[in-house]
Amino acid sequence: MTTAAFRPLRAAEITAWDHEADVVVAGYGIAGVSAAIEAARAGADVLILERTGGWGGAAALSGGIVYLGGGTPLQRELGFEDTPENMKTFMLAALGPGADEAKISDYCDGSVEHYRWLTDNGVVFKSAFWGEPGWEIPGDEGLMYSGGENSAPFNEIATPAPRGHVPQMSNKRTGEQGGGYMLMKPLAEVAESLGVTPVFDIRVQRLIVDDADRVVGIAAKKFGDEVFVRARRGVVLTTGSFAYNDAMVASFAPQLIGRPAAAIEEHDGCSIRMAQALGADLAHMGATEVAFFADPQLMARGILVNGRGQRYVPEDTYPGRVGQLTLLRNDNQAYLVIDEASYEEGCATTSSTPYFRFPPKWAAETVAELESDMGLPEGTLQATVEVYNRHAAAGADPVLGKKPEWVRPIGTPVAALDLRNCTAGFTLGGLHTTVNSEVLHVSGEPIPGLYAAGRCTSGVCAGGYASGTSLGDSSFFGRRAGIAAAAN
Ligand SMILES: Cc1cc2nc3c(=O)[nH]c(=O)nc-3n(C[C@H](O)[C@H](O)[C@H](O)COP(=O)(O)OP(=O)(O)OC[C@H]3O[C@@H](n4cnc5c(N)ncnc54)[C@H](O)[C@@H]3O)c2cc1C
Repeated sequence: MTTAAFRPLRAAEITAWDHEADVVVAGYGIAGVSAAIEAARAGADVLILERTGGWGGAAALSGGIVYLGGGTPLQRELGFEDTPENMKTFMLAALGPGADEAKISDYCDGSVEHYRWLTDNGVVFKSAFWGEPGWEIPGDEGLMYSGGENSAPFNEIATPAPRGHVPQMSNKRTGEQGGGYMLMKPLAEVAESLGVTPVFDIRVQRLIVDDADRVVGIAAKKFGDEVFVRARRGVVLTTGSFAYNDAMVASFAPQLIGRPAAAIEEHDGCSIRMAQALGADLAHMGATEVAFFADPQLMARGILVNGRGQRYVPEDTYPGRVGQLTLLRNDNQAYLVIDEASYEEGCATTSSTPYFRFPPKWAAETVAELESDMGLPEGTLQATVEVYNRHAAAGADPVLGKKPEWVRPIGTPVAALDLRNCTAGFTLGGLHTTVNSEVLHVSGEPIPGLYAAGRCTSGVCAGGYASGTSLGDSSFFGRRAGIAAAAN
């Protein structure tokens, strides 16, 4: 699509409107459905325009982890103490630098209410805790650590509390009744029971403004025909990230060139471009989630070293933090050094990612031999293992703070998994919005009639990431967008 395609249209140019509603939502994923429900409950009639043939978006394919805390009923039932203040302290430390304090503050203060909103709308969280290292929960438990809250350095900054809330699944396979599907399905059913009208196979492309530059509609394409949709109260943009727009990734988040993940091809940045064409401001366009293709059960039992044979992250932390530190700070170079006994023990555990248990590329009788086989500068890996083992003999990791339960000396035979270039991710930056999901103009004023939520906006994450914050802030600020648009 050319840039010209995003240029706004003037309402006076439209001779006939094809559809009309109080609130028009673009994109039927998690932010869109949340906006639609709240707008409908506020008395608006709502049209939701979706490019594909059905609801769901990336959300329905996702693991379904929703980042909630501050003392949710599930946290309390399972014996975990948390407060909004404690949650805020963690999020500000882990999701920055430069995280939006106002958004994080509202998000934490409203988190228990948001949990209740989800459960009142049919989302089920099973009262069971999964406490093993992992990307996701392999079974159907409802709560897990999902951001490194219980690992260094965050376990010293805030009281650790698990906040990854996972909808109960009837079939773990992602996309087929996995967590994200079990989140989206009840919400889509509620939206439709409230009279929200979906239009599928329609691709929004341009905003329509009146003479006072207020957004009053949206132009779209449906099977080649141009369609004009009038929004009497407001337009809500929720079409997802720009992870699959190669040019935007190259401009704003080049670390992800050639490695989009945890997104869908429809995430082409169109909402950002449409709103930019009206003067919208952007935030944190370089921020990215980074997945790391390694099994956390193995990582916790070994040491991760970079291309210089040095450790750089506590191996028992949130794997997304491992991914960010590997890609952004260590040239995407990582090796997992692990002894035979720990490798076998790790492979015998339950994990949601057994397919990340690659066989070692190198195996040796001594660390010196392994170092040489890996082509690392002489002495580097040996020095790393010597320091690690010296402290591990006393059950400690003063260098990076790995928890004592995972600290044990690296023995022999010893092996290394080649984890170079094993990262991918999605973009976190986007439209600069207020806590009420109004899209801000570069002047600092809201653009009248225009709201946005989800990954086309910059949410609670600026630099860091915790699993569940994307579905979390998309649904939370999606609701705000629906309420604000309907109130016009
Ligand atoms: C495998 C996988 C696992 C994940 N796991 C998690 C997790 O556990 N926790 C978490 O927080 N996040 C997770 N994510 C990320 C999360 O799913 C997304 O970041 C989140 O869904 C973003 O919400 P959204 O509403 O912005 O986008 P989406 O939910 O993708 O919704 C956007 C919708 O807009 C539609 N659309 C796009 N362009 C147009 C257009 N021009 N016109 C009309 N419609 C359009 C899309 O088709 C889509 O339906 C995962 C993602 C994947 C793929």
